[in-house]
Amino acid sequence: SSASQTGKKAKIIAVANQKGGVGKTTTAINLATAMAAVKKKVLILDLDPQGNASTGFGIDRHAREITSYDVVLGAAPFGDAIIDSGVPGLSIIPSTIDLSGADLELAELPHRNFRLRYAMEKAQARAEYDYILIDCPPSLSLLTINALVAADSVLVPLQCEFFALEGLSLLLKTIEQVRGSLNPKLTINGVVLTMFDKRNNLSEQVAGDVRDFLGDKVYQTVIPRNVRVSEAPSHGKPALLYDHRCVGSQAYIKLARELLGRDRKMAA
Ligand code: ADP
Ligand code: MG
Repeated sequence: SSASQTGKKAKIIAVANQKGGVGKTTTAINLATAMAAVKKKVLILDLDPQGNASTGFGIDRHAREITSYDVVLGAAPFGDAIIDSGVPGLSIIPSTIDLSGADLELAELPHRNFRLRYAMEKAQARAEYDYILIDCPPSLSLLTINALVAADSVLVPLQCEFFALEGLSLLLKTIEQVRGSLNPKLTINGVVLTMFDKRNNLSEQVAGDVRDFLGDKVYQTVIPRNVRVSEAPSHGKPALLYDHRCVGSQAYIKLARELLGRDRKMAA
């Protein structure tokens, strides 16, 4: 259906941080699930060769016939790669380890930074969803650049540990460069503090520094470290479905509320 029929125009958010293990995938999965729970139509694009977002929804390998690799390389149209996530209102484009070769292949292609953007535009992907979340790989590779070029904004999950601010500066510099050349409209959606441990003084201190540095770009909602959240992927379920009452799930519901509230305010 066309944009005029659905009236939708998805906001595209890249969930990015070049550091691995900071909560990108967990945030993409649970934020998307929380949004879908309040009747938003959401698509997750798994752009990490590790395919953790796909696994996190319990999508097994042989169900991943057409993947983000095919989309980025132009071997299949964007729409053909979309499958059901098992969560109502939430779809996913899965990935497999094939995607690990994409960076080298992309480097040889024309419009190498714009492949994802063009694929989404051609498919009028925005017309079908309220939000499209791109789960980026842990690098500043061509794949991540493709995500930053296709996106409206970047959501940065940040773990409050010793080198967090250094990593953040590098990411912000990259975003600035992309804005300066490839995607002038790219904004910072926000920074979300993840795996927060309030018994750890360093966590508190880093959180304070991040808030001093970025002000209200940092979400009020903080995601605590929570065992239930880390168990959920091995059950092939978002934490929100595995145990919606645990503090981690509740934090992601709050984060979704905060994000949607900000967007409503901007639209008003
Ligand atoms: P990334 O995508 O940035 O590499 P992940 O989202 O995969 O990071 O998270 C890294 C690891 O930390 C995973 O094992 C995940 O289950 C775990 N994890 C993420 N968020 C939390 C949390 N709030 N509490 C406990 N474990 C978490
Ligand atoms: Mg990940």
